[in-house]
Amino acid sequence: MDLMEYQAKTVFAKHGVRTTVGEVVTTPEQARAAAEKIGGTVVVKAQVKTGGRGKAGGVKLASSPDEAEQKAREILGLDIKGHVVKTLNIVPAAAIGEEYYFSFLIDRANRNYLCIASAAGGMEIEEVAHTNPDAVAKISIDPATGVDEALAREIAEQAGYPADVLDAAAVEIAKLYQVFIAEDASLVEVNPLVKLEDGNVEALDGKVTLDENADFRHPDHAEFEDSSAEDPLEAAAKAKGLNYVKLDGSVGIIGNGAGLVMSTLDVVAYAGEQFGGVKPANFLDIGGGASAEVMANGLEIIISDPQVESVFVNVFGGITACDAVANGIVQAFELLAGRGEAVNKPLVVRLDGNNAEEGRRILDEAGLAGLERVDTMDGAAKRAAELAAK
Ligand code: GDP
Ligand code: MN
Repeated sequence: MDLMEYQAKTVFAKHGVRTTVGEVVTTPEQARAAAEKIGGTVVVKAQVKTGGRGKAGGVKLASSPDEAEQKAREILGLDIKGHVVKTLNIVPAAAIGEEYYFSFLIDRANRNYLCIASAAGGMEIEEVAHTNPDAVAKISIDPATGVDEALAREIAEQAGYPADVLDAAAVEIAKLYQVFIAEDASLVEVNPLVKLEDGNVEALDGKVTLDENADFRHPDHAEFEDSSAEDPLEAAAKAKGLNYVKLDGSVGIIGNGAGLVMSTLDVVAYAGEQFGGVKPANFLDIGGGASAEVMANGLEIIISDPQVESVFVNVFGGITACDAVANGIVQAFELLAGRGEAVNKPLVVRLDGNNAEEGRRILDEAGLAGLERVDTMDGAAKRAAELAAK
């Protein structure tokens, strides 16, 4: 999960990194109030999860509350590399002496941590690395020993930071390493890390990527999730613990096992070509031990997608045999009817593998309205695509 700048700076502050979180606002009027509260010259900063905001006109100085309101009006709604600005960070304008680049990240190729640092900060580091590679220091970090202030000072020296900031920079770098480790981040980037005119070193910008695999030990990270940016169906599926990805087509897909579902998407897209380009509407893997409840939850999400015209349930019985899945489908229909969400879209079911015969018999006996049984994957995909095209 990528954090916005103000969120990254909030995390920095939690670990004692010198930074200014400022005020977070969403309207020009709030920007004016924030500037009044802060006093003096402020910086109005677009909060979007992409870099190069400054160049794109998303970072502007304002010397009065009036001007802050006006700059906020200019920046809100701005499209920065496909990200529309909805939130602003208002911070007191820092008296900048110099700008440096600093980051910790995971070096996957070397299975290690890496620090990239440069005295040439402020601008895009890729550009610096390209035009002046010697100005960029890359230092691998041993995760077993980590980064203390002594090593942090060496890093700052190798990066070419001037002698008079080494001590202050080392303090901040050691704390940034704590952010990287304690928060389970895969990236902590500060561009610029600045020397202020008073000699202090401060993180003026922050880019943090958190490893979602570690969410279980960071309940506080949930607050960083931007639910407004999430697809509502995906959010509902996530809340039910389903492995669902919304796609653009009209054939709802349910399968067991990620590999089977992936190939189902391909087969449906292929069959759909005969029917004017019908495509799958989603990815949904209900996994191995699919209960009636999971099947019902999956069906509920899929039929609530207004783009869905037909549903293809593709199950290959393994540890969970087809008769259990068939019973799950029958119970799911009952559960959904009970919830007032009766299945109102045609359903094509293909059962194969362990106990397929018994599963098919259960479905036939149940005689569910709108449910068709097709016993081959290609045949079922074709029928589902045909129904969606109708
Ligand atoms: P980015 O362009 O998305 O990386 O956004 P930054 O937060 O790095 O801001 C871009 C540039 O604006 C920085 O490199 C600074 O030169 C400048 N800037 C940002 N905040 C301040 C500030 O408080 N005071 C001053 N004088 N300049 C700032
Ligand atoms: Mn920056």
